[in-house]
Amino acid sequence: MKILLKNGSVKGEKVLDILIENDKIIKIGAPNSIQDNEAEIIDLTGLIVLPGLVDLHTHLREPGREDAETISTGSASAAKGGYTAVHAMANTLPVADTAGVVEQVWNLGKSVGLVDVYPIGAVTIGLLGENLAELSAMADSKARVRIFSDDGNCVSDPVLMRRALEYVKAFNGVIAQHAQEPRLTKNAQMNESTLSGQLGLTGWPAVAEEAIVARDVLLTEHVQSKLHVCHASTAGTVEILRWAKDKKVNVTAEVTPHHLFLSQIHCESYDAKFKVNPPLRREEDITELRKALAQGIIDVVATDHAPHPREDKEGEWNSAAFGMTGLETALAVVATAMIETKLMTWTDVARVMSEKPAEIGQLTEHGRPIAENEIANLCIIDPNASWKVDAKDTHSLSTNNPFDGMTLKSKVVHTIFRGRFSMKSGQVQK
Ligand SMILES: [Zn+2]
Repeated sequence: MKILLKNGSVKGEKVLDILIENDKIIKIGAPNSIQDNEAEIIDLTGLIVLPGLVDLHTHLREPGREDAETISTGSASAAKGGYTAVHAMANTLPVADTAGVVEQVWNLGKSVGLVDVYPIGAVTIGLLGENLAELSAMADSKARVRIFSDDGNCVSDPVLMRRALEYVKAFNGVIAQHAQEPRLTKNAQMNESTLSGQLGLTGWPAVAEEAIVARDVLLTEHVQSKLHVCHASTAGTVEILRWAKDKKVNVTAEVTPHHLFLSQIHCESYDAKFKVNPPLRREEDITELRKALAQGIIDVVATDHAPHPREDKEGEWNSAAFGMTGLETALAVVATAMIETKLMTWTDVARVMSEKPAEIGQLTEHGRPIAENEIANLCIIDPNASWKVDAKDTHSLSTNNPFDGMTLKSKVVHTIFRGRFSMKSGQVQK
């Protein structure tokens, strides 16, 4: 099977033709320089070609919560959003804390075949924060796990965190920390501020995140290991990361699309679609997070796609679940927050949504240059599209998307996964 992509702007720069055969890019050249009678021809005039997007933080919910999402529906949602690889978080039922569970997730991802699914292993058994899980067994398994996280929970015990950081050095692993000091966030509901006081919702102080990030950076430096900070959400965290990078500590960090775009002001609606962990912060935090992403202090955008069934998000704010879906809106939110504001270019978007995440996940077939002999994992975007998000129009089993009803700029139009369309003109190719 051959596909000839004509007149696409590669990373928003040069306009080129790209010929794909089977799973590879076999030829790239100036417009109209490639002829092939067997190829399906797709005209990409006015469109942007990026390497397929890579998500470091996706909750696929399977096994255990197939009422919220399955590997099949989550993969379809990822393909719709331009992703060719996602990392599945470990907080499933059972928890992905053994070679058996990570291999099950890996196999299910392969059998769906819309996106590569890379399991993240739990740091501690059952996410309980007491005993280290079988990290090396997961690393040696068919799933070849390199990222470990108790996401949803923080590895708050400093001794355990130190041991985990030391342990993963043997196979060049990384600990991805959900930074939340549990004693500072007991019953917390939204960002701690005058607004949380006015709304009568228990405050979640920025320091609960920053204290853990600071501690972990110091531990990482002390044992010379690798740390990844999940969903950085405050200006203070950015300051600590800047200091750590200055000191050449081996730390990377992610920010979510929602923390780049939505502030705590949305909590005024008491609509639980805006309830998330970590919480939406102040406008000043959004400004610093955007700047940090543009400067490389924050390395990547990760969705923290967290599907929940309707009954878990309805009703009272205090009893609703934390989390938002985001795979299908991530690219447009980043484009609206970062490109429309001229803070970043499409080359930068390729870096933070594909190349860097692939590097952190140690993936060899994603986030690669768009060049001959590379695996054809591509995401094609209309930069001039303007569209209104409809949360119900989704491949996810859940509809808790906070951007519902908002108008975003740029849209993913095709996704090519290993040389074939996984999504074409908006339609997922199951
Ligand atoms: Zn988390």
